[in-house]
Amino acid sequence: MALYVQKYGGTSVGTVERIEHVADKVKSFHDAGHQVVVTVSAMSGETNRLIGLAKDISENPAPREMDVLVSTGEQVTIALLSMALQKRGVDARSYTGWQVGIKTDSSFMKARIEDIDTDSMRSQLDAGGVVIVAGFQGIDDDNNITTLGRGGSDTTGVALAAALNADECQIYTDVDGVYTTDPRVVPMARRMDHVTFEEMLEMASLGSKVLQIRSVEFAGKYKVPLRVLSTFKEGNGTLITMEENSSVENPVISGIAFNRDEAKITVQGVPDIPGVASRILVPVSEANIEVDMIVQNVSEDGTTDFTFTVHRNDYQKALTLLKTLAEELKAEGVNGNDDICKVSMVGVGMRSHAGVASKMFKVLADENINILAITTSEIKISVVIAEKYLELAVRALHTAFDLDAAEEDNA
Ligand code: ADP
Ligand code: ASP
Ligand code: MG
Repeated sequence: MALYVQKYGGTSVGTVERIEHVADKVKSFHDAGHQVVVTVSAMSGETNRLIGLAKDISENPAPREMDVLVSTGEQVTIALLSMALQKRGVDARSYTGWQVGIKTDSSFMKARIEDIDTDSMRSQLDAGGVVIVAGFQGIDDDNNITTLGRGGSDTTGVALAAALNADECQIYTDVDGVYTTDPRVVPMARRMDHVTFEEMLEMASLGSKVLQIRSVEFAGKYKVPLRVLSTFKEGNGTLITMEENSSVENPVISGIAFNRDEAKITVQGVPDIPGVASRILVPVSEANIEVDMIVQNVSEDGTTDFTFTVHRNDYQKALTLLKTLAEELKAEGVNGNDDICKVSMVGVGMRSHAGVASKMFKVLADENINILAITTSEIKISVVIAEKYLELAVRALHTAFDLDAAEEDNA
């Protein structure tokens, strides 16, 4: 008998019929003698709908009230799933985040889980029941409702699995595992049986939304066995493994991630003197704007261009801030655009192979795609390009680095 924590995402509980289907799946694990704790997302589209309602009332709603609002979506699905299981004769009980004591810090809309009280879940499990917990939400020390950031139900699942010392955390979604890249963009993407934590962490942080990055961090920290699999199709999905598989040679590139959420800002003609980077970036970080990539050009005539990228949501704010700052810095001007994207190649095998970057740049050049910025780390290379070339770039790289599935694999 095993203890499983299962998380079902928004599409998996998107209609009443799908909730009934999830109930059948949960029941089959329960009937086989396993203990099951389930966490669910809101029905697909619901969180966006709720955010839209708030935006209709206020451009800048209070984060505390946003969390009271957006946490309601998950309360609907836990109740419905519990009813569906009860209809099938399974003793299921639903709990909101606060009812099971998911304690978080007070960073509304991006709270971090600090502690989970497992007593009530344990007694329900010991009594032979199924526990259903609302994903995405928790409570802070002052009893305020908090939420964990978009995609946060993944993190609820992994945190529950860590707290309960579960045998496996299973993330059920609308794809049958982690692919070499988003299978919706590259039909030739290949499902991986295994991916290392390190690679999954990079993929998630670089834009592969199949797992929320914090869920991967949590799984790494608490050594939670984590698997991504389909709600709708049988199969073993993808296991996120702790160790690099040393018996097989690691592929140089295991995946390609991309992110459309960035925007680029260039401060032109700033004096090339010590302290300029900090004079630009300190006010940006004080305005709570996170900077991703930074590029400074070589100096010409004692001046240089300074480019960085931010989240698209912060683009206008950053641009306004920089326009004021540019005058103080005696820069020539500021420009930016938000029709860019970031494409990244990830692979632990990259460590031992030279020439990955140059091959990547050649592939993009052959497609006539201009690179606007580059960053690298031991196991990843990212480039910023115009958003209109995203699909072309990802598909070309996927083929060039031998990631395409054989025809029969995707049949
Ligand atoms: P859920 O609602 O179940 O949480 P998400 O939409 O958050 O589902 O995540 C699943 C989606 O992630 C897939 O539909 C797919 O389009 C996208 N995705 C992005 N990158 C990958 C990848 N490398 N492998 C699999 N899916 C990916
Ligand atoms: N419902 C939340 C969201 O849409 C959390 C989740 O689905 O994981 O972001
Ligand atoms: Mg998700």
